[in-house]
Amino acid sequence: MNDNAQWKERGDKVFIGTYSRFPAAMVRGEGCRLWDANGREYLDFLSGIAVCALGHCHPAVTEAIQRQAGSLLHVSNLFYTVPQIELAELLVANSFADKVFMANSGAEANEAALKLARIHSGPGRYEVISLLGSFHGRTLATVAATGQPRFHQGFEPLPQGFVHAEFGDPAAIEALVNDRTCAILCEPLQGESGVRPLEPEYLKAIREICDRRNLLLIFDEVQTGLGRTGTLFAHEQLGVTPDIMTLAKALGNGLPIGAMLTTDKIAASLTAGTHASTFGGNPVAAAAGAAVLRLILADGFLAGVRERGAYFAEQLAGVARQFPELATGVRGRGMLLGLVLTEKGIGLGARIVEEMFARGTLINFAGNRVLRFVPPLVVSPAEIDTLIERLKAVLADLAA
Ligand SMILES: *Cc1c(COP(=O)(O)O)cnc(C)c1O
Repeated sequence: MNDNAQWKERGDKVFIGTYSRFPAAMVRGEGCRLWDANGREYLDFLSGIAVCALGHCHPAVTEAIQRQAGSLLHVSNLFYTVPQIELAELLVANSFADKVFMANSGAEANEAALKLARIHSGPGRYEVISLLGSFHGRTLATVAATGQPRFHQGFEPLPQGFVHAEFGDPAAIEALVNDRTCAILCEPLQGESGVRPLEPEYLKAIREICDRRNLLLIFDEVQTGLGRTGTLFAHEQLGVTPDIMTLAKALGNGLPIGAMLTTDKIAASLTAGTHASTFGGNPVAAAAGAAVLRLILADGFLAGVRERGAYFAEQLAGVARQFPELATGVRGRGMLLGLVLTEKGIGLGARIVEEMFARGTLINFAGNRVLRFVPPLVVSPAEIDTLIERLKAVLADLAA
């Protein structure tokens, strides 16, 4: 049996170097725990980047996957399948939307949303306004929509029709609206660039611009959706409803699946042949998705996320108070939390993540600015306490 070092060597030999990885080959997961090839245990506050929301290998999801894998793996979207219909019904019954398009990832769900915004708005109206600091994916169109130059570098010229507004100021968005504009795209809370929530007043102002200027409002809830912020969708607690919403990450609890949701009226613009995906809504991934939604929608689940999220945020605020030279406070919603660092803390961010890893604890350094915590939504108060204890130990070492 190979150990971590051997797996790392074999992997590095054959993979294109797009990722800088932790030096561990993960072999097993259960709940909020992972085990590597050396048999080392980790407390996972990354959950595959907000994907394994119900914890690793949740029995009900595993059962749904196994059952579906034993009866039908794939037929393409030339046919109906039961899991895809059940998943779409659950999404529609629990959201503003009437219709769903299934994809395989967040970027693909956003691509579908961008194509819908263009075709629905008609010839000459193709421009999408997104926000600086946003993250919408790594395909050419979604990277163009992403408001962070570091993701653009080397890939120009990017697809046309994407402009970025300064974060936080509705007037900056309005100044970019013109005859070509078809939509405003944003995350209700920016995840990748450092856990930056958009205030309800700001989102309401964006909605108002869309209504007044006849633009579509697209919410990228790929990271914030499906209970992560304490409500099924983040926008529910912000009093603003989009015209189009995208989902992915947590939808399959680990299986690749994405979805683009919209209203009947807007959906009518995507007619047969205008968009497609071979694997989109694959029966096994959709069966996992339906199981995930049933669990998240079960009585008390979201209330529990809110309660433990509030407890976690309080504990993190305590860490910031204890180490004012390294951290200034906590921000985020539900179980999507960031510890905001001082300049000194930012300089140590990568070290903090490494030291946490050395103590068997997985977190990350979002946007090279904020320590991001996205544990499985089922994380227990005891596991939160363990995380906090280890974080304090690491910060005390580094502050010394
Ligand atoms: C992760 C993420 C994406 C991209 O999803 P992929 O599945 O990696 O393509 C898009 N938008 C947001 C907000 C994300 O967090």
